[in-house]
Amino acid sequence: MTKLNKAFKFRLYPNKEQQGFLAKTFGCVRFVYNKMLEERKETYEKFKDAKEQLKEQKFPTPAKYKDEFPFLKEVDSLALANAQIHLQNAYKNFFEGRAEFPKFKSKKKKQSYTTNMVNSNIKLENGHIKLPKIKKPIKIKQHREIPADHKIKSCTISKTKTGKYYISILTEYEKDIQPVEIRKVVGLDFAMDGLYVESERGEKANYPRYYRQALDKLAKAQRILSRRKKGSARWEKQRLKVANLYEKTANQRRNFLHHKSKELATNYDAVIIEDLDMKGMSQALNFGKSVHDNGWGMFTNFLEYKLKEQGKQLVKIDKWFPSTKKCSCCGKEKEIPLSERVYKCSCGFVLDRDHNSAINVKNEGLRLLA
Ligand SMILES: [Zn+2]
Repeated sequence: MTKLNKAFKFRLYPNKEQQGFLAKTFGCVRFVYNKMLEERKETYEKFKDAKEQLKEQKFPTPAKYKDEFPFLKEVDSLALANAQIHLQNAYKNFFEGRAEFPKFKSKKKKQSYTTNMVNSNIKLENGHIKLPKIKKPIKIKQHREIPADHKIKSCTISKTKTGKYYISILTEYEKDIQPVEIRKVVGLDFAMDGLYVESERGEKANYPRYYRQALDKLAKAQRILSRRKKGSARWEKQRLKVANLYEKTANQRRNFLHHKSKELATNYDAVIIEDLDMKGMSQALNFGKSVHDNGWGMFTNFLEYKLKEQGKQLVKIDKWFPSTKKCSCCGKEKEIPLSERVYKCSCGFVLDRDHNSAINVKNEGLRLLA
């Protein structure tokens, strides 16, 4: 039996009192996170040239602040413990080169906290969910059932900038997964505009037209917002409009990524991708935001679990593999400038540049699978 995780996201409808309690929990989590970060930042400044000493340091825990700030005792202690774990992960990602130095949490951003299932402290019943420390269960709109064999592990409660509440319920379940015999394989080449180009027909996974139109609308709304006087009534109205459009496009993107990953996991037994380091790439190529917003990271996560639960495989090839330089016909390598959209080889082979890369990615994956 293999243990698998699956998250379910639903809309929450807390009443006034519950909203107040959630706001207090968001606030305490942010407070504790920022306090711990402040202390760790000081330690970092002191010892950053002596990495070994940095490891030796005792790091602050939420418990330490409870006497000085007794209001912390009134909220879910698991939420505070998770703030500590989130900070530890943020540091780990920073030290391992995957992220920037941890930032202070701001009241203006999306608010959230995570709590865990301990001794049935979380219960789903009659369209409501019982959460630790909150007396009355909160109304939940469950558009799909969580299967009976799924155990709830943790919940993340969030409030968006437009004031909507959501809960993401992380579950664990066991499944008897038999590895599938690998017959059908596809290679994907990451595409900056769109999502990927696949090896079989050279087709590009383009975001739908309505999504690209929504993005244009969002950009326009943001430009208008930047011209308004901050804090004015007109500014506030526009801020809400921007936040709404942002949430709408984020949902559209997510749905599209689910759709595409499902399609691939249904049609193929193995999918080969390059193990791209998005942060390094956006810095090196100076693409800035567009790489992050492209959704590649989210897409590969979806793809991985959708393949895994069927006994199929996601194969990641080395990020230094010369997929663009290589001729997928004869194997010779050459430099090809970004402006050249067609790969032409001295062996006579001519193909769309990205399609050629996708075939190379596939072939390298086949080599690793063999
Ligand atoms: Zn060639």
